[in-house]
Amino acid sequence: MRMKIAVIPGDGIGGDIVAEALRVMGAVGEKFGHKFDFSFYLMGGQAIDTMGTPLPESTLLGCLDAEAVLLGAVGGAKWDHLKGDQRPEKGLLGIRSGLNLFCNLRPAILYAQLSGACPLKEEIIEGGLDVMVVRELTGGIYFGPKAISEDGESAYDTMLYSRSEVERIAIKAFELAMKRSKKLTSVDKANVLESSRLWRSVVNEVAKRYREVKLNHMYVDNAAMQLVRNPKQFDVIVTSNMFGDILSDEASMITGSIGMLPSASLREDNFGLYEPIHGSAPDIAGLDRANPLATILSVAMMFRHTFNLEEEALAVEGAVEEVLSAGWRTEDIMSEGMRLIGTKEMGTLVAQAIAGNKE
Ligand code: NAD
Repeated sequence: MRMKIAVIPGDGIGGDIVAEALRVMGAVGEKFGHKFDFSFYLMGGQAIDTMGTPLPESTLLGCLDAEAVLLGAVGGAKWDHLKGDQRPEKGLLGIRSGLNLFCNLRPAILYAQLSGACPLKEEIIEGGLDVMVVRELTGGIYFGPKAISEDGESAYDTMLYSRSEVERIAIKAFELAMKRSKKLTSVDKANVLESSRLWRSVVNEVAKRYREVKLNHMYVDNAAMQLVRNPKQFDVIVTSNMFGDILSDEASMITGSIGMLPSASLREDNFGLYEPIHGSAPDIAGLDRANPLATILSVAMMFRHTFNLEEEALAVEGAVEEVLSAGWRTEDIMSEGMRLIGTKEMGTLVAQAIAGNKE
């Protein structure tokens, strides 16, 4: 297969970690006989410095022309003095809405090899953890009508959802649940919010098309508690923009390592943007100290969700587990008795593990 991919390394450690993800893609290409057409684009601070805007039109057009986007991270102290629309992070919001990426997938996976990093008691997470949060990304209270009064004494935001917005995210979540353990939890606040009552009724309607999936509904306050009390009860969670923002961060903290977590933001077709959940970590940029695994695992998500290449996705995920099992660690996940390595060596070992699996 030939895959057309837009690559945006971004700022800080972005270049370091994306380079390793590309190395791993190279190994997958070799093993499975795929070719990649990569085009590189600027976004964030680097784009501000060279083109005067965090999201140049050429970047957006380049992404629209590709089948998938691989993004590192953007931002850094150098641009912190800038205001509003000029900040690097504005590029992130712009690209998500510009590409119509309404569905955000945030897996929270606790690898058995890293269980020591989990802040929860051992008996709660025994056997590992694998929760997928499906967050609606372009609607709800972050995008509804909002205003502050002229005297600055009051302000409002509006949680607004249309039936079609809920339906399309519900379909994505049910489809995903079908590929996993056929269990879906829809999180809302239907005891209080009208928009949540609409959310729940649309999810129930979509459920009729997926009778094999076991659906339950949960209020968001309870879901926040259950995630730390008994996270293993969850497989796929689907929820609105703001609830998903909060719950996906909570779920990722349970895994204990920000350097390990990938994400995908999807459109209605298979197009997607793939990026680690962490930021540009300017404190360790260019020092060969960043953990590239979140970006490498984002590539696995790209194979799975955009290109429907499950075997390739599993090869990448399996290689990461193999390298962790052999005791190799970047410093953010280092623990006693393990072997400390840098960004490049971690990428190289994962690539080699993929090649080594070749039969
Ligand atoms: P951050 O995620 O960049 O860093 C937080 C801490 O985690 C730092 O100590 C960093 O060294 C460490 N860390 C993060 N990723 C790591 C990795 N892969 N390997 C090892 N250690 C890692 O968050 P921050 O410090 O709050 O933000 C730094 C900059 O990144 C800011 O400008 C912020 O706006 C931006 N940011 C960008 C994104 C994005 O591009 N999606 C997301 C969050 C923050």
